[in-house]
Order: sequence, then structure tokens, then C-alpha cells
Amino acid sequence: MSKDNTPNFSKCVLCGRYGSADNPLFRGLDGSVCLECAKELETMLRANPDIPKREMPKEVSEDLPANLPEDIRRCLENILEAPREDEVEDGHYPTPKEIYDFLGDYVIGQERAKKVIAVAVYNHMKRIYDRENGDWNDPVELQKSNILLIGPTGSGKTLLAQSLARFLDVPFAIADATTLTEAGYVGDDVENILLKLLQNAERGPRDRMIDIVERAERGIIYIDEIDKITRKSENPSVTRDVSGEGVQQALLKIIEGTVASVPPQGGRKHPEQEMIQIDTTNILFICGGAFEGINDIIARRTGTTKIGFMREQVQQVKKDDKDIYQKVIPQDLLKYGIIPELAGRLPVIATLDPLDEDALAQILTKPKNAYIKQYKKLLKMDGVNLRFTDGAIHAIAAEAIKRKMGARALKSIIEDIMLNIMFDVPSDLSIREIVVDKTAVMKHLEPEVKRGEERTVPDKTEE
Ligand code: ADP
Repeated sequence: MSKDNTPNFSKCVLCGRYGSADNPLFRGLDGSVCLECAKELETMLRANPDIPKREMPKEVSEDLPANLPEDIRRCLENILEAPREDEVEDGHYPTPKEIYDFLGDYVIGQERAKKVIAVAVYNHMKRIYDRENGDWNDPVELQKSNILLIGPTGSGKTLLAQSLARFLDVPFAIADATTLTEAGYVGDDVENILLKLLQNAERGPRDRMIDIVERAERGIIYIDEIDKITRKSENPSVTRDVSGEGVQQALLKIIEGTVASVPPQGGRKHPEQEMIQIDTTNILFICGGAFEGINDIIARRTGTTKIGFMREQVQQVKKDDKDIYQKVIPQDLLKYGIIPELAGRLPVIATLDPLDEDALAQILTKPKNAYIKQYKKLLKMDGVNLRFTDGAIHAIAAEAIKRKMGARALKSIIEDIMLNIMFDVPSDLSIREIVVDKTAVMKHLEPEVKRGEERTVPDKTEE
């Protein structure tokens, strides 16, 4: 895995290009140099043959291709040093189990989706490693494992993508597919997603653009509401379909891997503007959507027709079966209106289940940054103890189910309960403890406030 302080050996440090069979890279201690640049160096050397010669470790000289002109060899030997044992990337990346366990700290339930993602990401990293260190002549090329998440609103799709980026310590950007348009129409250009990623890849004002771009090129992009840009019919349209197919085509380009030109300030491109080039080959794309109604398509596909006196549809899977979404295959996506090329670029499909009351109750308390933990922490900073009874937690979960927004409803329910408390506590120093119980939640009453000796106000001016 590439940490920020490790060099990227897949690109030439001089020109920034990736290595290829035609233009291979020579790896050094802090980076690589490509053959094209080496040739330029040769020209420079010829013009100035008096560059001092230095003895190089044998391994480096042996690594250089035999047919290199002597001058280039000399020049490279001066630039390159043998990589130290401990600096060689050994291809160790987190195992699927480690990824899965980390996701479990933040995402409740969705076990299958977490496993699918963990394996996909592991393969993704292997693929990057292979591109950087593998054999150029190996005909087996590992396909990019972009991921499609299918699941209802508020079931944790964005959270999964976000947690993954946190684990891998890579930049992350979220885009809403419905705000995108194909180039030339009113709306957001697809390239602006990359601009967001670039902005999130910046760590400080003194970052060099080359480092920011390099970090972004290994980031993760989550594209939400991908199911809302479907084309209207399964057959390719003759007329241009601005809302659906065109956007899918535009997305396809960056998802499959291209060098995109991004206007540094965002907005529309114009010809004189200086562009930032971003290679999207190693960016992991995760697309998500609720795909409402796809259960009908799956049920129809898995149904069999009996030929006989009575033509009858026998459905093996009922459209309301809880796990019907797990049976989705790319063909169903095409029927739903995803273009085949895009479906083909999202080879990993993970489905998320609707969250039940128990899962919602756990979401309130278990994840590392669970809502209730956050409120407890906020109040503790004011010296006040906060307690939610089990009954209250389940009542909040039950209310969230009624609102049909998945876990998204939890936040607004809790915010309503806590608003007055959060307002009063800082100025009412007699408050020592707040207890939220089932009745308070169900009857929309104020939580119980326990008072005592006045708290001392934390001195905020003192560091
Ligand atoms: P989606 O993208 O599926 O619509 P999100 O991932 O944006 O849903 O979920 C909204 C919020 O709900 C998250 O920020 C998180 O706090 C909470 N949440 C949703 N699903 C889960 C889950 N499975 N585990 C923990 N928290 C969740």
C-alpha cells in the first residue's frame, strides 16, 4: 500500500508518465526514471561528457537493460542507487479479513457486503502492485474491481465507501450522479468529481501539485444515485439522451481508466485554461443506488414459464423475498437501464439489506462514532452525564423504521430529542445528568434532567 511518504515507483520522476512496454522504468531509491527521459539525458550527456563517474553497486548495473548506450548507462548509474532492502515494496497489503474487521468498527450488519468489498479491495491493491511491479509481458491483466452497491436509502452504502477510504488512508470524494451531465450541457462535468478528489487529496498549503495528483490517483470515488441516471429503454437510443445514457457514457470513461483533464478551479472547461492531468486507472470507483423495482426484474428472470394447457408464471423467487437483491446479475442492471459498458465496468456487486430495528438500535450505540457516543462526549465536555435507556434506544429505532429512511432517520430523531438539552446545558450549571427513556421518545417529552451542585465551567481560555 502506498503511504504518502513512500515514493511512487510506477511513474517517471522526471516527466510523470507511467511505465509501459515501450517506455520502461528504471527503479531507483526514491523513484523511477523512464527510458524516454534517459534518452534525453543521453543527449545532455553527449553535450557535456564530463559528468564525474561513480562506482555503483553491481546489482544496479545488472538491472539496467544490456542494450543501453554507454553514456546513458553511466548517467543512470549516477542517478540510481540500489534500493535498500527495507524500502522495497514487498507487496504486503491488508488482508480481506483486516479490511472486513475494520469496516465492522463502523458499519453494523451488511456482513456479506463487507466481505465482498474486502475481497474486491484486496484484489484492487494486488492489481495496482502488479501494474507497478509485475511482468510487462504477462498476458494476464487483472481487471479493475470497481464496485456497485445496491441497497435501500440509509443502509450504509456511503458509509462503507467512506470507511474504506479511511482504512486505506486515501483521498475520498462523493458525487451525486443526478447532478452530472455529459459535457456541453448545463450541470456538473464528470471531471469535477476528480476535482473534488484532488481537493480532498490536499494535506496542506505546502503540498506540491505533483504529490496531490499522485495521492488522488489512488483515491476512492463514491458515486451515489447511479440508479437515477438510467436510460429510458433497454435499446440504445437514436436520439441523444441527456439525462441518462450520455452521463453514463461520460462516467464510463473515467471509471474504466483514462487520463482526464481537470480544470483547477472547477466549473466549465475552456480552451485557454491550464488543466491538471489525472490518470484514473488506479482510482477505485464505488457506485451506489437503491435500484427500486429491480426486485421485479429479478423475480421475472428467475421465474419459469410452464408450457401446457395453462401458461403460468411460476416464480422461484418472490419479488418481496428479503434476500432477492442478492440474486441480482448484470443482465438485470441492463434491463434496469444501465448501459452494458458501464455494467461491465462494475464487476463487483454487493447488496445491502434494509436495516431492522435491532440493527438500528446497534447503530445508535455500537460504531466507533455512534450518534449516542457523540452526544455523550459533547455533554461530558460540559461536565454532564448522558444516559439513554435500552427502551429509549429501541423506541428511537422503531420510530426510524416508520420513517422509511433507514439509519438516516436516526440522526434527525435524536437531534429533535436533544435540541433543548444542548441549548440549555451550557448555561444551566445545575444540570448534572440527563436520562432519555422510552416515554420521552414515544411521547415526545423532554428527557429527565437531574440537577445537583453547580458544575464548574471548564475554562476555555486555558490551553
Ligand atoms: P446510504 O448511502 O445507503 O443511503 P449512508 O451510508 O449515507 O446510507 O447512511 C447514512 C448514515 O446512517 C451514516 O452516516 C451512518 O451514520 C448511518 N448508517 C447507515 N447504515 C449504517 C450501518 N449499516 N451501520 C452503521 N451506521 C449506518
